[in-house]
Amino acid sequence: MKPVGIGMDLGTSGLKAIAITADGQTVAEASATYPLLTPRPGWTEQNPSDWVEAAHQVLGELAQKLQQGNWEPVAIGLSGQMHGATFLDKQDQVVRPAPLWNDQRTAQACAEIEAAIPRRDLIQRTGNPAVTGFQLPKLVWLRQAEPEHFAQTAHVLLPKDYLAYVLTGQMATEPSDASGIGALNLGLQDWDTEIIQALGLNPALFPPVIPSHGVVGSLKAEWAQALGLPQGLPVVAGAGDNAGAAIGLGLSSARPGRGSVSLGTSGVIFVPTQKPTPDPEGRIHLFCHADGGYHFLGVTLAAAGSLQWYRDKLAPGVSFEELMEEAQSVPPGSDGVVFMPYLAGERSPYLDPDLRGAWLGLSLAHGRGHLTRALLEGVAFSLRDVLEVMQPLVRIDRLLAIGGGARSDFWLSIVGSALALPLARTPIEEGPARGAAILGLVGAGLYTSVDEAISATAPQDSEIGATATNSQPLLERYRRGLQAVQGFKGK
Ligand code: ADP
Repeated sequence: MKPVGIGMDLGTSGLKAIAITADGQTVAEASATYPLLTPRPGWTEQNPSDWVEAAHQVLGELAQKLQQGNWEPVAIGLSGQMHGATFLDKQDQVVRPAPLWNDQRTAQACAEIEAAIPRRDLIQRTGNPAVTGFQLPKLVWLRQAEPEHFAQTAHVLLPKDYLAYVLTGQMATEPSDASGIGALNLGLQDWDTEIIQALGLNPALFPPVIPSHGVVGSLKAEWAQALGLPQGLPVVAGAGDNAGAAIGLGLSSARPGRGSVSLGTSGVIFVPTQKPTPDPEGRIHLFCHADGGYHFLGVTLAAAGSLQWYRDKLAPGVSFEELMEEAQSVPPGSDGVVFMPYLAGERSPYLDPDLRGAWLGLSLAHGRGHLTRALLEGVAFSLRDVLEVMQPLVRIDRLLAIGGGARSDFWLSIVGSALALPLARTPIEEGPARGAAILGLVGAGLYTSVDEAISATAPQDSEIGATATNSQPLLERYRRGLQAVQGFKGK
């Protein structure tokens, strides 16, 4: 039997598991979905029991495929949506549905946190200000809004760490996901008890922090028997979804200069770093990576999401390829039209939920191709704004282009020239589950370090020819557009 690592990613819409060989080939996959609950506007929750049910189904299906292929699982590594809060009572029962990363109920709790710990201090210690989606504000919210549930709460776990607890009976977390709670000291890669105590919270609420490739515990006998998995299979802590995806792509803090740009629903720039030096204003995130280092993360909320909205609402039935072709016949700069991609407010580098989108500079001479090209350019420049905050803090030589928007060479050429950086393509499509599986292989002892595992599993990237256009005048025009929408509040 040949060894494989299992990676399981607990996403927002569903759970995905894959198994990879020691050299990174995917040999089996399985997935299941679960509902997202929105009990009130701005609230997003999930029932942790839905995650457990999905894990049972997905692991069972995967185990069967592995048996058929004569593969031997050596570990399960986990990854998942960050920031969520699973509240458990003294008997380790779930107290209420878990609020998720995109839940917006905690504005007052964030103000309370920054009143107790000055914002600059919080950024220096944890890498980030108090952010509404993070776990710590959810705990502070629970104390104020649902005191009876707070009184019952003995432990709070991140989503994937709850799954590890259910699989093993042991509670633990690891730095990459824990740094999205809001109470992890980046330098120590452990809890900042001064922050926790300044908020009047008990540090014992949080589980111990172990390395991302560390073993949380062994798969419980009842799970192993029911699913047909080996007795005592190690369950490895794993990584938050962004760090997990980066491990899968071969992005390590030991190899500076390489990062990724994702043109998914949101746009994300991810760059590993060895030093925990945050942007003093907290305009971009700094989290722990899953390899002992750190990573910067900047998010533009509506990237390919802007294109999807535009196609669905204004050009229904038209394919993305057709839209791209029309846009390609328009010159760079869209003959004076600029698009502001703030359809969902903005995260980095201008944290403003009330910012809104716009096309500016329209005339009777413009057509749909101009609107499309301006949209593609606008998203690219909003990513450039993220990059400009990051570049003084970390070396960036080139970025791997990922996400649905990266299917378009044309859009990538626009992004490459707006960022003034070479972009590259990768054959990897598995997302965070792959990184979780790689961390599983390290935890099982097949590799001595995460970096060694990355070297053995990372595929060759292919560079995309850079377009050497001077985008400076267009960037300046974009910034004038931004000032215009910042000065315009429709409400
Ligand atoms: P998510 O972040 O939700 O996982 P994906 O990474 O799958 O999203 O990206 C989906 C987005 O990719 C769609 O919203 C769409 O805007 C964009 N997209 C899909 N196909 C193409 C294409 N051929 N050209 C450009 N963009 C595309």
